[in-house]
Amino acid sequence: MIRNWEDKVVVIAEDEQINFLFLKAVLKPTKAKVIWTKTGRETIDVCLSDKIDMVLMDIKMPDINGLDATIEIKKKYPDLPIIAQTAYAMEEDEIASQEAGCDDYISKPIRPDNLLTIMSKFFDD
Ligand SMILES: [Mg+2]
Repeated sequence: MIRNWEDKVVVIAEDEQINFLFLKAVLKPTKAKVIWTKTGRETIDVCLSDKIDMVLMDIKMPDINGLDATIEIKKKYPDLPIIAQTAYAMEEDEIASQEAGCDDYISKPIRPDNLLTIMSKFFDD
């Protein structure tokens, strides 16, 4: 399936560069515009000041974690889709991400097909 998301802006909230580069590569064929944020604070600031279409939210980040960042962002933009990136087989992460208001979650290590399918639910339906 060819996905064209050139009109979408996706925030990749991820403190580890290698993980960011992987996600950026996965999204490249979709032509989505990517913004990299490395902390929870930075993620909140970008989401509250720019027009954003989706956040791929790492849970474990410096200063404010991904769950608390989600709560802050959802106060202002309840309809902005936020997909939590949870640690492998961490059921607590999945439950906590739902409680924080995340719209969906994907567990690491992230499979490209799986990520794009989840994103499609918000972009292509
Ligand atoms: Mg992290």
